[in-house]
Amino acid sequence: MSSLPKTYKAAEIQAVKGKFVIVERPLPEPKEGEVLIKTLASGVCHSDMVVVEGWFGVQHPRVPGHEVVGDVVAVGPHEKRWHVGDRVGAGWHGGHCGVCKSCLRGSFNTCTSQLITGLGADGGHAEYALLRTESLLSIPRDMDPADAAPLLCAGVTVFASLRKADLYPGDLVAVQGLGGLGHLAVQYARAMGYKVAALSQSSAKADLAKDLGAHLYIDASKEDQCDALKKLGGAKVIVAVAPDAKAISSLIPALAVDGTLLLLAASGDLMVPTGPLIFGRAKIQGWPTGTPQDEQDTVEFAQLAGVKAYVEKFPLAQIQEAYDKMMGNKVRFRAVITPHSQ
Ligand SMILES: [Zn+2]
Ligand SMILES: [Zn+2]
Repeated sequence: MSSLPKTYKAAEIQAVKGKFVIVERPLPEPKEGEVLIKTLASGVCHSDMVVVEGWFGVQHPRVPGHEVVGDVVAVGPHEKRWHVGDRVGAGWHGGHCGVCKSCLRGSFNTCTSQLITGLGADGGHAEYALLRTESLLSIPRDMDPADAAPLLCAGVTVFASLRKADLYPGDLVAVQGLGGLGHLAVQYARAMGYKVAALSQSSAKADLAKDLGAHLYIDASKEDQCDALKKLGGAKVIVAVAPDAKAISSLIPALAVDGTLLLLAASGDLMVPTGPLIFGRAKIQGWPTGTPQDEQDTVEFAQLAGVKAYVEKFPLAQIQEAYDKMMGNKVRFRAVITPHSQ
């Protein structure tokens, strides 16, 4: 640790509904089961608001940030897997117990004692971060850390859910909303071999949808999206990523037989028409982010298929601006903090 600074800057939320405050903290030493990373990139996710709002029993002060990429600068005692100099990442899944039923079944991200990065422990919006070793994945050196970061929450959520969906190549996948998750969902769905329809509220994102690989663009200001999907035979999967319960509910009758409404963003209470579900054997499914191995697969598939997050970079000092812009739905499409660049 001799070449490391004694202190580092971190962006804390200090109280419920507080603003980000940049503080100077003493650099911690990793304990057993932990590594210390120098943070190269930290994505700003809508779920950072959990810390701001004080939900899930979050204790303040807390450093949010659960799309973290950095280089290992110190490891805890007896560490076997990670070494100083390794480039690693961590997502929403910040650690697991290894002994509960979910863990014993290998479903680490439904662990009853799951630690969430940036919620239960400090996360990535800081120059350095302490992370649990079992939460880490390896980040390729030839990928910009700022491009990799959004794959660790937004990316893995769409990739891990789509690859387990009941889909065959050529099936119609509708992506409702082209934001942080949606712009990645279109790319992943296209790369997986599905016919992709991007659903949007205006014509503004038509060119973008085409650039991302969408085959079809269904503009709510011009036509009824549910009718349009029905005319196409219904969507085998509707990926709901824009948190608008009314809009999502209105799409349920557009599911194909055996179709799935895939809920990836907390959107409040849906109004569910039961007929289309019963007679079409359709279902509604939710999906959390993923395990560290899901995140690893998400990153590797992105490289393989040319899937790329659209990012806007911000220095740590502008974290509040980045957060406000993200909350105002003004970021195209993922804000990423790069703490060591000005
Ligand atoms: Zn997130
Ligand atoms: Zn567990």
